[in-house]
Amino acid sequence: MTDDPEEPTLAGDDWEPEELLDEDLALPAELDLPPDHRSGFVAVVGKPNVGKSTLMNAYLGQKIAIVSPKPQTTRNRLLGILTLERQRGDVADAQVIFVDTPGIHRPLHKLGEYMVEQAVRAIPDADLVLFVVDVSSPPNDEDRHIASLLQRQRELPVLLVLNKIDLVGEGQPGYAAEYQALGAFRDAIAISALQGENRDRLLEMILAHLPLGPRYYPEEQITDQQLRFMAAELVREAVMMHLRQEIPYSVAVIVDQFKERSEDMTYISATVLVERDTQKAIILGHGGEMIKRIGRDARRQIEELLGTRVFLELWVKVRKRWRADEQELRRLGYATPGRGD
Ligand code: GDP
Ligand code: MG
Repeated sequence: MTDDPEEPTLAGDDWEPEELLDEDLALPAELDLPPDHRSGFVAVVGKPNVGKSTLMNAYLGQKIAIVSPKPQTTRNRLLGILTLERQRGDVADAQVIFVDTPGIHRPLHKLGEYMVEQAVRAIPDADLVLFVVDVSSPPNDEDRHIASLLQRQRELPVLLVLNKIDLVGEGQPGYAAEYQALGAFRDAIAISALQGENRDRLLEMILAHLPLGPRYYPEEQITDQQLRFMAAELVREAVMMHLRQEIPYSVAVIVDQFKERSEDMTYISATVLVERDTQKAIILGHGGEMIKRIGRDARRQIEELLGTRVFLELWVKVRKRWRADEQELRRLGYATPGRGD
């Protein structure tokens, strides 16, 4: 490639996160981390809608995983990196790497299968598992299914996180006992990821279960996802927020262009893919009203993420049955690595 000066550099294709990471790994020694520095991977698992992304975002103090009242909004595995330093007043010297997983549920079609695979794969890699449940409603088959998957990983410690305690009456246990009966958990705690109750206490429990280890990522890094992907997720979130009933989760978003026009202006062009003409019409709305509103909301969120002004251009296209089409899923970035492309 170096022989040919005409050969353009394809930043998107050549970019190797692993290479960058190797250099970063040289850092801890120079940093003189204390000998009791802890680190590890914490898989956050649970059925859709129990508050996994909310919990992770709360710890990171930033929105990196999309949250919505509709289930199944988190499709890819997503790392959330929390670096703690006593020097700055944190409770420990540690790096907690949360792995947010798509909700584990029964596959209905190809995308469902992919999501389940991702969720299950996240488990054996982890040093600790947070099994998040909604304590305000009784366990169902999905909770039992996940609990049984976890039971198979015997050597892995699992903390039962009884979330949404704020929805349960003062001093009431909700369905805590029913959830505890689902397995042998190292510990259990009732929290409100949304309102903050017991969040600090849970963090202490997490830290107590992490092994001694180095800092895997530089302290300023909070996620492994590229901004481009996160921008696409924010557009998808805006679509789902506005069209709660009308559009099921058959919406995918591709960012076609992502350009820093100047220090404080980013140009983004994105395509919203739907499966049917009727869905396209709904997303566009009367005289384009709906897509304008979606675009405005998404733009605000992306501006917050990037810290620049954003010019966002949205297109809506119909791609019939994209969810069932393996090739299309791969093209959209939902492919499982190592599955033989
Ligand atoms: P995930 O699918 O498990 O990642 O769930 P999300 O984090 O996307 O949250 C699903 C919904 O539950 C959102 O509307 C959240 O605002 C809400 N939620 C999350 N945590 C809590 C909580 O502690 N209390 C209450 N009342 N709602 C919560
Ligand atoms: Mg989520």
